[in-house]
Parts: sequence; structure tokens; C-alpha cells
Amino acid sequence: MSQFFHGVALSPGIGIGSVVLLAPMAFEEEGREVPDAGRSAELERLERALDVSEAALIRLEEEATERLGPDKAALFGAHRLMLRDPMLVDALREAVSEGKDAADAVVAKTAEIRALFEGLPDPYLRERGADVEDVGRRLFRALKGLPDPAELSGGEGAPFVVVARDLAPSDTALLDPAAVAALVTEQGGPTSHTAIIAQSMAIPAVSAVEGALERFPQGACAVVDGLRGAVVVDPDETELAEFRRARERFFLERDEAEILKDLPAVTADGVGLGLWGNIAGPGEAREVPARGGTGVGLFRTEFLYMGRGEPPTEEEQLGAYREALEALAPHPVTIRTLDAGGDKKIPYLASLVGPEANPFLGYRAIRICLDHPEIFKPQLRALLRAAVSGNLWLMFPMIVDLDELQAAKAQLDACAAELAAEGLPWARPAKVGVMIETPGAVLLAEELAREVDFFSVGTNDLTQYLLAADRMNPKLKRLQDPLHPSLIRALAAVAGAASSARIELGMCGEMAGDPRALPLLVALGFRELSMTPSRIPWVKKALRELEARNLEGLADVALKASTAQKLQRCLSELAGRR
Ligand code: PEP
Ligand code: MG
Repeated sequence: MSQFFHGVALSPGIGIGSVVLLAPMAFEEEGREVPDAGRSAELERLERALDVSEAALIRLEEEATERLGPDKAALFGAHRLMLRDPMLVDALREAVSEGKDAADAVVAKTAEIRALFEGLPDPYLRERGADVEDVGRRLFRALKGLPDPAELSGGEGAPFVVVARDLAPSDTALLDPAAVAALVTEQGGPTSHTAIIAQSMAIPAVSAVEGALERFPQGACAVVDGLRGAVVVDPDETELAEFRRARERFFLERDEAEILKDLPAVTADGVGLGLWGNIAGPGEAREVPARGGTGVGLFRTEFLYMGRGEPPTEEEQLGAYREALEALAPHPVTIRTLDAGGDKKIPYLASLVGPEANPFLGYRAIRICLDHPEIFKPQLRALLRAAVSGNLWLMFPMIVDLDELQAAKAQLDACAAELAAEGLPWARPAKVGVMIETPGAVLLAEELAREVDFFSVGTNDLTQYLLAADRMNPKLKRLQDPLHPSLIRALAAVAGAASSARIELGMCGEMAGDPRALPLLVALGFRELSMTPSRIPWVKKALRELEARNLEGLADVALKASTAQKLQRCLSELAGRR
């Protein structure tokens, strides 16, 4: 029977292949002492391992320059410098001269240097701790005469899905994209090397899949969905066929994206829209312009809080937000404050939340943040500090009324005052807005509009709350349709409030990426649509074929449609007339 696993999408695409488990090598000290008489031979062994490792890195650098270009190959140059750094080499020679086994010395010194990197505040430098470990492991393998995992490249037969605890930079760089269908790791985030290299080699990858090494059978068929961050092991025939179709669609989209990438997002008669991307981490920001998008309409910051034991610090968050803002500048990056709870579980917040019968209606998102300044303030301070680096639109999730919005804005002001008093560089966000994703917010849209610069409608939650239909329950598909008349009427009310208050009106729920709904959204006045980046080309294509002047009256017609089917028919007729 097929099994589903959730993870974090690292590199887009869909890969299908048989599972190859890359069990971790025991990189541990054995506590072996070398007697006096053996020490000079042990020192020679160390020197030989250093030479062998250096020669391998030189080979890797040459190969990577040819296959991946000088930018990616530079990593191996950096590893070579780390390998010969006196901080490492002198420490190893000293430990071996004092009687430590060379391999034990490598394990101990690597851990010490790695810990130094991991104690640094800059998230980029902290991730480099993994490079130190990679160099140490290479040396360790040379000392133990173990094979290089890079030998996985060029495997024979059907493509395979590599499953590992974490992949070292040099392991991923050497993989043969023709043989590797996808990568799955238990660890590693969106800024990891696995992500960077997998993206540049166009290998789909998913990380943070808990227990993958224990739970995936060796040789089983696996489908890796690097678009949604999911893995299916042992899919049945129907699922397999569906994924194969999704893979074809992905290839088509990719070709389409290439063609449309640099063309403006305008209707045939010149009405411009912002087609923006939804991202879950700063590493995904580059994907947006690559797909022809001109902004980020939703940065789901909760992913920065996942896969760890405590919230990210202010400095860590600053690094992540700054990276995304710089990648898109001068275009906007809309960053949403923490939206924990519901389907977005963060284990170390569980004690604050407590047991809940209905987590989607529970203690979540802004509700937690407003009660817990120790969680909310580091995020707001990081956002204000990052705002100097680009065009920040800051957005609060799950707002249901004015009290919540005003309290959130007051916290933002308090953080700004603190930063000013501390003399740290900071700036006001270019815009402050709210997500409209609860019926409460729809009914109070006029009041909320007076307090913000923009609305961004979250149709995923708004549909769920409006129609009382759990967004995760596959049996409720009919009630998850954004063309449901109740939702259309809610959208019209929100659009009316935004227009009267002259504020920006956008959407970042899945509906924004549905070309079927596009004419209606344009007719209602939505001007920023934010979606999974891979959807941008599809929506851009549909937009460029649309005549805005033909849409007059569509909003009225849509509001009169009493069922989703009637509205669907009306939109199909419109599409047929074009
Ligand atoms: C939404 O609810 O529509 C939305 C965009 O937010 P999320 O999917 O992250 O809840
Ligand atoms: Mg939501």
C-alpha cells in the first residue's frame, strides 16, 4: 500500500525511481591510542590521507567546472583550503604526535571546528559547518580506506531516488542527473547545499522527511514531488499515472516559462498585474524571477521555525529576510509573520498551545504571537531591520478583527521604538497589510482597510472557514472549490472595501494560480496574484490572452451565479469566445 511522507520542497520537479538508501557512515572516535613506537608511522598515514583527499578535491573541482561551471566548482576549491588550513592540519598533527589515532583525531577536531562555525550568528556561515564536516569525513574515509559516496553517480538500470540523512556538498555535486531521479533527505534546509546543487542540476529534492532511512524499503518505488514537498513510497497504478501526468505538466511549464519569462504580465489590451511567487524560505526567492515573477506575495515564515528545537533567533531571521529582500530588490517581498498551528505544527510550541480538539479553530498564528512577545518581537525586530535591504511588505495572518490588527501594529511600533533607541539600522516596511482569510475579516473588511496598505486574500483558509470544510479532508473536495458562490461573494465584498479605501488588493491562496479564475479576479479588481512559482507561466500565458475590456459586467454575472457549476459554465463560455 502506498505511503505518504511530508517534507520541505528543496528543488522543483517530480522524480520517480527506486530507493537507494545511503546509510550514514559511523563518524565516531574509537578511542584507540597509538604507542610511542607507532607515532611517526601514524603521522605519515595522516599526511598520505591529506594528500589523497587533496588530489580527490582537485579532481572534483575540475570535473565540476566542466559539468556545473566555475561558480559551483568553487565549493571544492574552498574545501581544499579548509583541508589545508593550519587550524585543522596543525591540530591533527599535534593530536597524532601525542598518541591519538589519526582517524579519531579527525573526528574530534572536525567536531570542534564545526561547533565554532555553528556558533556564529550568520545563518550562511553556520551552514558552512556542514562543509567542515564534509572535509573531515573525506579525510576519515581516506584513512579508513572507505569508498566515496560519489561513486553513486552513473548507476546502471532504472533511475534511483537517493535517500540519506543529509547529503554532503561533494556527494550531490557528483551525482549523475541522468541516473538520479530525485533526492530525499531527513535533514538540511532550503539554504543547504543539497538544495542549491539539486536546483542547479534540475534534480527534484525534498528534505525534512522524518525517519526516511528507517521507513523507506531499499529498492521500493518512490515518487518525489519537489513542487509540494512530498514523497509517496510504493504508489499504486493510479497514483503513478497521476504523477507521470504531473511530471509532463512540469516539463511543459518549464518550457513555457523559458518562453514567457521576460515578457510583461499584461492583458492583451495592456492592463498590468503583479504575478508573484509564494515561497517558504529565502533559497526559493530566486525561483520567482526564474519563472517570470516580479515579486513575492507570500513568504511563509513558519518554515524557518520548523525542523529545529527552538525558534530562530532575531539574527537568524534577519539573515533569511535580508537574503530574500536582496534577491528580489527593488521588487516587493511580502513577508507574513508566524502562522503556526492548524496544519503547521511546530513541536516546541506544543506546550504553549496545549491539547486542542479543533486545531484549525484553535490557538494559532497571530493569536499565539500577540500573547507571546518573546516569540513575536524577535520576528518583528528582524523584519524592521531587514526592511533596509529591500522592498518589504509586512503582513499579519489569521486576523479576525480590528483589535487583533491594532494590537499587532502596536507591537510593530514598539519594536521600531526599541530599535531606534538602540541605534540599530531599521526601516518601516514599504507597506503593512493583512491576510483576509477568515469570515470575520471579510465582514469587517471596511474597518480593516482603513488601517492597512494592502489586503491579500488567503483563499485556502477563507474557503475552509466560510464553508466549514477542513482543507485537509479529501472527502470534502466539492466544498474546497474557490468558485463556490459564497466565496465569490466574499471576494467581491473584500474587493469593494479595498477599492473604497484605495488600498492594494492581492491574493496569495491557491486560487491565484488557477488560470480558470483569472478573468474573474481581474474583473473584481485583484492586481497582485501570488502563487507557487511554477504556476506563474501558466497564469501569465492566460493573462496575455485576456482582453480586460471584455470583462466588464463579469463581476455582476458571477455574483448572480447561484452555484459553482453555473459560474464555471459562464467562465468556460467566456474562454470559448476568446
Ligand atoms: C491561505 O490560507 O490561503 C494562505 C495563502 O495561507 P496558508 O496556505 O499558508 O494557510
Ligand atoms: Mg492561511
